[in-house]
Amino acid sequence: MLLWRLLMIATLLGAGSATLVSGAAQAQAQGVERPSHRRGPKPSVRKIKREKLKYKVMRGDSLKSIAARYKITEEEIKRWNPSVSRQLTAGRTLIIWATQSPGVQIIKEHTVQKGESLAEIAKKYGVKMGDLRNWNPTIKAGSLKAGAKVKIVSWKAAPQGTSRGAANGGRLDSAQPLTSGKGFFVRNPDRAYGTEIALNTIVDCIGETRDRFPKAHDLFVGDLSFKGGGYMKPHKSHQSGRDADISYYIKGGPDARRFTVATRQTLDVEKTWDLFERFIESGKVVYIFVDYSLQEVLYEHAQKKGKKQEFLDKVFQYPRGRGHSVGIIRYSRGHDDHFHIRFKCDSKDENCR
Ligand SMILES: [Zn+2]
Repeated sequence: MLLWRLLMIATLLGAGSATLVSGAAQAQAQGVERPSHRRGPKPSVRKIKREKLKYKVMRGDSLKSIAARYKITEEEIKRWNPSVSRQLTAGRTLIIWATQSPGVQIIKEHTVQKGESLAEIAKKYGVKMGDLRNWNPTIKAGSLKAGAKVKIVSWKAAPQGTSRGAANGGRLDSAQPLTSGKGFFVRNPDRAYGTEIALNTIVDCIGETRDRFPKAHDLFVGDLSFKGGGYMKPHKSHQSGRDADISYYIKGGPDARRFTVATRQTLDVEKTWDLFERFIESGKVVYIFVDYSLQEVLYEHAQKKGKKQEFLDKVFQYPRGRGHSVGIIRYSRGHDDHFHIRFKCDSKDENCR
């Protein structure tokens, strides 16, 4: 039985970017503690960086509890949401300009044992009875049945990776590693540390492609960066948490546990393009290094899919020749068995180049 489910990644990537929060996930958010591991300089008095997010009100929420969660005032919530009244309706969405990211929400499901009480469960997980009731509105304390599922909500500090310097001569601070997830297998998490942008974009994009192609094989993720960044043999880059090596989708391929050379014939163009399109649309990607012959089939596929010439010119180096420094998808030697993706600097990483 799957116990831990990452339901929402509410790490917000820069002022003005809205997080689209799934109702079911955010509906569980109430009364839980904020991440305590926030690092970096405190916002100055003159310039407080605000991050816009959508918050779905759940049962038991009050203006006060929401204000406390995001370190804002009740007056501010009213100002941003003019129609809001003191009595909040569960399910409605509020606009919040938060001064701090709420981190990653984790929902654990506890299976009720015979004779177990709600109080015992609360004690076991170190949570309050009131919170437990709010997370599980349909469960009545007196009628807890063995086998029933009780939701436990907690928050984990968002990955706070900070990228310094250049990809081929930089460092990475306070980062977390990528671990195997939906649609991909990570060879070695010790070599898979990355920035928030890198980790979240990989998880989101590969997960979305897997949703569209449920039978697609797992991709194989090789190196990102070391925990603190720095030189990683045999790469020139991979030094600041913004680079990742990922296998291609291969036609009829098994779950990948190593890189496999893709040719024009064996590359699963449809799935690989679907993934590339997601990466590009995320707006978080600088380059995707791809073998030139594979670019050709991807280009033709994108063209068939009705992509405009203007888009193709911007995205692909092909057909201008592998020596041309244009396009997001471009040639670099040794990328026939995997592609290499470079992510943008986070706007908070002032020394990232
Ligand atoms: Zn690489």
